[in-house]
Amino acid sequence: MGNRILYYSTNRNLDTIHGIVPFKGKVTFREALLQGQAPDEGLYMPDRIPRIPYEGIVSLKDKPYAEAALLVTRAFLGDEIDAVILRTIIEDSYPFTVPLQKVFDRKYIMRLDQGPTASFKDFAARMMARLMGHFRNKDTRLNVLVATSGDTGSAVGEAFKGIEGIDVNILYPRDEVSERQKKQLDTIGDNVRSLSIDGKFDDCQDLVKQAFSDPSLEYLNFTSANSINFGRILPQTVYYFYAYAQLCRKEESIVASVPSGNFGNALGCEYARRMGLPVQRLVMPTNENDEFPRFLKEGAYEKVSPSLACLSNAMNVGHPSNLARFFDLYGGSVDRTGKVHVYPDIETIRKNIYSVSISDKETKECIKKTYEQYGVILEPHGAVGWRGLEAYLEQYGDFPLCVSLETAHPAKFPNEIMELLDITPEVPDSMKGIDERKGKSLELPADYRIFKEYLTGNLKSGA
Ligand SMILES: *Cc1c(COP(=O)(O)O)cnc(C)c1O
Repeated sequence: MGNRILYYSTNRNLDTIHGIVPFKGKVTFREALLQGQAPDEGLYMPDRIPRIPYEGIVSLKDKPYAEAALLVTRAFLGDEIDAVILRTIIEDSYPFTVPLQKVFDRKYIMRLDQGPTASFKDFAARMMARLMGHFRNKDTRLNVLVATSGDTGSAVGEAFKGIEGIDVNILYPRDEVSERQKKQLDTIGDNVRSLSIDGKFDDCQDLVKQAFSDPSLEYLNFTSANSINFGRILPQTVYYFYAYAQLCRKEESIVASVPSGNFGNALGCEYARRMGLPVQRLVMPTNENDEFPRFLKEGAYEKVSPSLACLSNAMNVGHPSNLARFFDLYGGSVDRTGKVHVYPDIETIRKNIYSVSISDKETKECIKKTYEQYGVILEPHGAVGWRGLEAYLEQYGDFPLCVSLETAHPAKFPNEIMELLDITPEVPDSMKGIDERKGKSLELPADYRIFKEYLTGNLKSGA
C-alpha cells in the first residue's frame, strides 16, 4: 500500500496563471483512469517510475505479447489490481499478433496494425476499456462520450464493445468522415452507439464538452476515454520492451522511431527508457506540423496554428497534447494553449530524442522506395517513421539494432498505395466484411438542446 505510485497534475505549479486553480494533490491510478484529466485541466503523471531489471526484460524473449504486457503494467499497477484479474484483462485485450518485419540487416518494422481497427490505437484503447470496466463504481453505469474525426472513434468503440456497465456514444461530423469510416462507426453495435452530427468536428467536440460541464447531467457519470488518459499511455510502454526482448543481443541498446502526432505513443517509449529499457535514442518524426523538431533545433517553442493537413492525417497536430508530459519529465511546463511557463532541460532532451519533419513529398518517396528496394509496404504514418529513422542514421551514422513503428495497416489507405505502388494491399481479416456489416447511426443537428434531450431520454445511469 505505502509504496503505491500516485499521480499528480502537470499544472500543479501554475499559481501565477489567471483562470487556473492548480491541483496540488495526488490521486491513485484508479482515480486518474476514471477522471481522465486532473481538475485543473492538467495531465496526470506518475510520481515515481518503476524499474524493470534487465534480466526481466530479456526473459520476455519468445514469450507471447501478453507476458510483456503483464510484466510492464504490473510494475505500475502493483497491488491496485489483483494479478489474476490483470492477466485476464490483458489476454482479453490482445488476441492478435505483433509482427516484427525485417527490412534489412537488423532494422525492423514493428507492425502495430493487427488489432480490430487495424491501428496502433487498439493497443491502448482495448486495455483502457477493460481497466475501466474493472475499476468503475459498480453501483452506477459509466457513459463514455467521444467526439471523433475518424479513426480514434472506431478504436475506442470497438474496444468498449461488450464491456459490462459501460455505454458508449460516438459523435462524428456527417460530411467529414469517409464512407468506410462511417460504416466502421455505425456498425459496432451492442453497447456502442454512433451519432452522425450535421456539423464539423469542432461542433462534435463542443457538444461533448457542454455535456461534460452540464451540472444537470452529472448523474450520467460521463467519461471521455480520450488520448490524454494515463490509462491509454500505460499500454503504450509495452511493445518497446517486447520488440527489444525478441531482437536484442546481450546488453546492446536500440533505436526506436515513432511517427508522432499527439506524442502519446512516443511517450510510451520515453517511459520505457526510464523504466530501464536500453534505448539509445528515441526518434520522433512528425509530418509537416514541425513545431517539435523546430523547438529542438531553435530552443523556442511555437505551436503550428492552425495545423496543416498532411497525408499522415492522424498526425495533423499543431500542439501535441502530451507535450506537457514531455516538458514535465524534463523539468519544464507548458499549458494546453501552447504557452511555455518553464522551459525544460533541452540539452538532455536532445541527448535522448531526435526529431525531424518529413514532408508529404518525402513520405510518398519513402513508400515507393521502401517497396521497390525491400518489398515492404508502408502506409503514410509508418513511412514518416521509417524516413525519420533513415534521417537519424544519415546524421549520426549506422546503429546496429533499430525498430520503426507501423501504426496503421496499408489497407486503410488503398488509394495512396494504388497511386504510388500500383498494387492493392491485402485486406486483413479484421477489415474484411465491413461493407456487409449492418447498423445505422442516429442523425442529430449540432444543437446542444436536442443533443441533451437525446442524452436524458436514452442514456442510463443505474447499474
Ligand atoms: C494516432 C496515430 C498516430 C500518432 O500517435 P500519437 O500518439 O498521437 O503521437 C500515428 N499513426 C496513426 C495511424 C495514428 O492513428
